[in-house]
Amino acid sequence: MEHPENDSQYIGLTVNSGVNQPPIVNPYLSKRPRRKPLPTVSELVEGILKGDVTVLSRAVTLVESLAPDHYSLAQEVIEKCLPHSGNSRRIGITGVPGAGKSTSIDVFGLHVLKEGGKLAVLAIDPSSERTKGSILGDKTRMEKLAVHPSAFIRPSPSAGSLGGVARKTRETIVLCEAAGYNNIFVETVGVGQSETAVHSMVDFFLLIQIAGAGDELQGIKRGIMEMADGIVINKADGDNVGPAQLAQAQYRSALHLFPPTTSGWMPEVLTYSGYYELGIPEVWAMIDRYFDFVKSNGYFETKRQQQARWWMYETIDEQLRKHFYDNPEIQKMLETSEADVLANRRSSFAAAADVLGKYFGR
Ligand code: GDP
Repeated sequence: MEHPENDSQYIGLTVNSGVNQPPIVNPYLSKRPRRKPLPTVSELVEGILKGDVTVLSRAVTLVESLAPDHYSLAQEVIEKCLPHSGNSRRIGITGVPGAGKSTSIDVFGLHVLKEGGKLAVLAIDPSSERTKGSILGDKTRMEKLAVHPSAFIRPSPSAGSLGGVARKTRETIVLCEAAGYNNIFVETVGVGQSETAVHSMVDFFLLIQIAGAGDELQGIKRGIMEMADGIVINKADGDNVGPAQLAQAQYRSALHLFPPTTSGWMPEVLTYSGYYELGIPEVWAMIDRYFDFVKSNGYFETKRQQQARWWMYETIDEQLRKHFYDNPEIQKMLETSEADVLANRRSSFAAAADVLGKYFGR
């Protein structure tokens, strides 16, 4: 085409017609397989029972996935693994950020692995819901365990409600046990609701505290101390030995204020130093005493049964709630009902009855 700039006065500035631009999206992309095909149930189960870590990781990823086909596959795998699970010590570990959880889990982990066996470190971190990722259970925080061939470290599942995140961790425990992990640590940050969730899936609950962190007995207020089977005061080293012992005495007397535990076990309070590796065998001897105690009085089995029942109802609750709130019609109706309630046009109860009536098709 003729162009004004092709005039002789603009010689040297010849304008050529353009070429067609290639499409932004690679046209061959759709022809490539989207993702690896899903493994079969038996491939996963066989791999897990052999202790294959790659297969175990894959199965845990399926447990954590939100895709419905992953969910049903994972459920089948869990079902098949269930008869091979249960043979472990499940230990919950909590403490405020900075209490020394990762330092301690690293040394506690190496200590238990000295006796042989395998260790899985899992985590429940409710904050990961917001940040879409969790630092708890992160390998970089546990340097020695991270390179240990018998340790399996998995950060917290990140999507969903606390109940959903906790359920996934609980299901991961089953897979890990079937893969031969006879020690399970479940880590959580001691700042909120997640302790209750962890408590509902472990045999022993360890609360890590530090002396001189302001309010010594802050765990009392949050109801975490009632759940603890053992309280350990970390960083009992150097100048901090005295304050740590003082805190130990305070916790011991505070524990007397609580009603006796259902297991009959009297929670113990010890001091140790995770960083300098002082007092570690003593902490572990306490945990051994606990397991001897609850296994001989039958509480170990009772508690596991109670937990299994609790999780059944918890899962039912969660699924019902999800089914209800995910319904688009209900969502629409909730919006108008909420506006009615806020504007005093309708009582909360009548509005709730309307929405539920709609849901149940009445
Ligand atoms: P987390 O947030 O509970 O996982 O705590 P970390 O394990 O990351 O520890 C927090 C800080 O406390 C780090 O700087 C550790 O080096 C330090 N720390 C952990 N354990 C001890 C200990 O036994 N003694 C001393 N002095 N410092 C410790």
